Amino acid sequence: RITVLGSINTDLVATTPRLPAPGETILGHTFSTGSGGKGANQAIAAARAGAEVRFLGAVGDDAFALDLREALVEAEVDATLLREVAGPSGVAIITVDDAGENSIIVVAGANATVVELTDPERDAIAGAAVLLCQLELPLTAITAAARHARAHGTTVVLNPSPAVPLPDELLDCVDVLVVNETESAQLGATTLDRMPHVVTTLGARGARWRGPDGATHHCGAPTVDVVDTTGAGDAFAGALVACWDLGPHEALRHACAAGALTAARPGAGSSPTREEIDAMLGS
Ligand code: ADP
Repeated sequence: RITVLGSINTDLVATTPRLPAPGETILGHTFSTGSGGKGANQAIAAARAGAEVRFLGAVGDDAFALDLREALVEAEVDATLLREVAGPSGVAIITVDDAGENSIIVVAGANATVVELTDPERDAIAGAAVLLCQLELPLTAITAAARHARAHGTTVVLNPSPAVPLPDELLDCVDVLVVNETESAQLGATTLDRMPHVVTTLGARGARWRGPDGATHHCGAPTVDVVDTTGAGDAFAGALVACWDLGPHEALRHACAAGALTAARPGAGSSPTREEIDAMLGS
């Protein structure tokens, strides 16, 4: 069983001929909404990759909350501990112009209220095999969760995104750090060297693992026709934790397939099922 503690947002996406200038109103082409937030995306990806997943986080009391909860439930993610708090749900307001340039406003909303953990949330962490977190919730909650997990033998997987300087209190509790090349450079060798396991995603070049005894392994990404790499990192992280019990080599192989399959599809919300991953791997 996997417990994900993280963000959940509604993506509000407008496509426009060009990005509006300050004070300007322009007509857009299309509008769509979808569920997002790294926490929810990775929880859904892990569930679709075959894991039993529980999500911990918060939505608001607005009209978006219902759809956000539904997106988790539809993917068979256990959302029974999802908090509903007064105020707005998290949103990402995204504008994409004809040239593919974007501008994005993220408002944390309900996500920012997850500062301390409740007793049922602590139990869900202690009872899980793996805790997966990102950094779109307050660091206090992430640190408390990682410490609680460590104390109960739950494996802690951290995707430090968006990258911020990490307190020692948190770093000391991480078993597996999952970073892309940008995050890897931002965190630096000193931080990475402290981690028992580091998994680095390398885009079209796949991913690399470095284990506790210095062992390394590289897994190439399957070749696909890339449509949209948005969400590939989240699909990778979800599949990695879902398959972590197969060992790092197999987990990386499945995660690379999940990332590649997502890059071959439009949009962010289409992480592959375990059957699709296995079909790509020919197993
Ligand atoms: P992020 O999107 O977080 O920056 P990456 O770009 O490293 O992360 O992509 C995450 C994973 O998605 C990669 O490890 C790989 O498995 C897969 N992936 C991304 N881009 C491609 C691509 N062009 N072809 C095949 N797989 C890809």
